[in-house]
Amino acid sequence: MGRKSIILPEKGTAKAQLETELKEIHSHDFDFEGGKVFAYAYHYTEEHTDLLKYAYNLFFSANALNPMAFPSAKKFESEVVSMCADLFHGDQKVFGNITTGGSESLLMAVKTYRDWARKEKPEIKHPEMIVPESAHPALSKAAHYFDVTIIYIPLDKNGLADVNALKKALSPNTILVVGSACEYPRGGVDPIPEMAQIAMEHGCGFHTDSCVGGFMLPFLKKLGYPNIPEFDFNVPGVTSISADLHKYGLTAKMSSVLLFRKEKTWKNQFYANTEWIGGIYTSPTMPGTRSIAMLAAAWAGMMHLGMEGYCEMAKTTMQTAERLRDGVKKIPGLKVFGQPVMTLFSFGSDEFNVYPIADLMAQRGWVMDRLQKPPALHCIVMPNQANIVDTFLKDLAECTEIVRKNPQKANEGEAAMYGMLTTFKERDKIPEMVLGFLADQFKTKK
Ligand SMILES: *Cc1c(COP(=O)(O)O)cnc(C)c1O
Repeated sequence: MGRKSIILPEKGTAKAQLETELKEIHSHDFDFEGGKVFAYAYHYTEEHTDLLKYAYNLFFSANALNPMAFPSAKKFESEVVSMCADLFHGDQKVFGNITTGGSESLLMAVKTYRDWARKEKPEIKHPEMIVPESAHPALSKAAHYFDVTIIYIPLDKNGLADVNALKKALSPNTILVVGSACEYPRGGVDPIPEMAQIAMEHGCGFHTDSCVGGFMLPFLKKLGYPNIPEFDFNVPGVTSISADLHKYGLTAKMSSVLLFRKEKTWKNQFYANTEWIGGIYTSPTMPGTRSIAMLAAAWAGMMHLGMEGYCEMAKTTMQTAERLRDGVKKIPGLKVFGQPVMTLFSFGSDEFNVYPIADLMAQRGWVMDRLQKPPALHCIVMPNQANIVDTFLKDLAECTEIVRKNPQKANEGEAAMYGMLTTFKERDKIPEMVLGFLADQFKTKK
């Protein structure tokens, strides 16, 4: 018995009909262009998006698998890397690649240091990497994939990596230390100069995860915002940096950069199989076939905005973020967590569970991620949200007031599910449960 539900149709469907269907399907997704979504879609102006699409379409079928076959791929990738290296104060010897996203950049960073250590420190049999508790899960995924032990260090009272804990966590097996600029949950920047100094004295690598901050912090600094911490190649001891083009870089999805201070370290990222009967095969990152479309979009997007354009975007977004943060702080019962330095932050409450606020806000069309330990709601402020501040704060104040008066709402709807998942005592049973939910997402519903 074959499958009955959804199978390849015997006859094709007309282009016009499919276009109508695609539009219909699209209409059920979030309306991120309206500015109600605090995550996922970094939308800027219509003009900018049109240019990205033009570049993307033009190189739709081109393949960067072999940069020697497509001069365009070589130009786009090396020039984007060079522009980023300069933005992060790298010298002429900084090199790197475009990857498919922050996760791949971090996967490749961990693999690179693992292979570097295999060569340079062969006495290490069980490599370890040290990351703050706030570090992005792509790092624990990388540790899992590449068999490196991940050691978490706690956060200090400001929610940033605890430098003394880092010193204690070092061992002869440490190959890598990671800090975030900024970290995803609360938008704080770890003490990168201190951490990188410790890593350098220990003789291991230091990676700055600047996936979300990489295309915001340099522009805020240039605009003269005070208190923008050092995080890039200006800091001695920082040996690599990741920054996502598809976040505040405002380019097409599936693009990030990973840069290394030294060519010698970078080369540990590569893979070669020189004996295959299909020919000599080399590849710089995880994929084989790679789309030149996203390389072209990244190049065009960066060239179009330039330093001035990015600074303008950063200024508007930061002003929006500051207005939102100030507004949230004024709502009775709510507080902003940690020390957010740029354009993302999270908020919660000492008095009540904030998860039901997300449910009520969702009924009004707002999309916010939920954090845990303690429950919090997340805002990555988008460059196109300048006009939503007042409506958002009004809705948030109203929803918060309802939840404050009705704490039992924490036992209803999605809040109940998140509450259960985040407080369930037998933590070792949770991964199987959530992976069950994940698998369900990929099953057809008919
Ligand atoms: C988004 C993010 C990542 C992962 O990036 P993806 O593009 O989602 O794979 C890693 N680190 C930080 C700090 C991030 O914000």
